[in-house]
Amino acid sequence: MKGKLIIFSAPSGAGKSTIVKHLIDHSGIDFGFSISATSRAPRGTEKHGVEYFFMTTEEFKQKIAEGAFIEYEEVYNGCFYGTLKSEVERVLNSGKHMLFDVDVKGGLSIKKLYGEQALAVFVQPPSVEELHRRLVNRATDSEEMIAKRVSKAEWEMQFAPEFDLIIVNDNLEKAQQETEKAVSDFLNK
Ligand code: ADP
Ligand code: 5GP
Repeated sequence: MKGKLIIFSAPSGAGKSTIVKHLIDHSGIDFGFSISATSRAPRGTEKHGVEYFFMTTEEFKQKIAEGAFIEYEEVYNGCFYGTLKSEVERVLNSGKHMLFDVDVKGGLSIKKLYGEQALAVFVQPPSVEELHRRLVNRATDSEEMIAKRVSKAEWEMQFAPEFDLIIVNDNLEKAQQETEKAVSDFLNK
């Protein structure tokens, strides 16, 4: 059986990582995960080849020139992120279904490439104010970075209707259940 692709995109702080982690831990499905490349520096305990393949901007641009990406975006000023062809091939060849955690533009690009083989999910916060509160509570970003992420959120939200599915993450438990059901329906289709 051919593996399917499940794409999650959201403004930063919407709860995408929390929902994806719950899906991985509770669905009973052994998903494969695409490890992206990025030109940003590792944060905290992040390791090369685990959370990301970390590259210099020059190395990243070299990969673009080689045609190594199925999509890439400059998600934040000067920070490139991209999905490697080699990663998608590695996971799909193993027969597993794949999860993607990519920005809104990248999510729509992957959906366009894979069509019916892919489910594109947009995780939406109840409001931009709540998004701001969550980023402050998460306490992983500087005030300046939070401001950048929040101001980008308004632009990102306009793409929500282009996704196959919008999950409004107000009540977390409800959002997790909705996600599990939608993913299970899609994989059993
Ligand atoms: P993202 O991956 O979209 O950037 P996270 O999953 O890191 O977002 O969530 C951002 C913060 O909001 C985290 O501290 C998380 O625990 C919290 N959070 C997630 N969902 C909810 C929710 N429904 N209500 C309140 N807080 C939430
Ligand atoms: P972070 O720096 O918090 O790890 O990620 C920032 C943003 O980059 C998130 O929205 C994340 O989904 C996005 N991102 C991570 N990998 C990729 C990728 O391969 N392609 C695209 N387009 N975005 C990515």
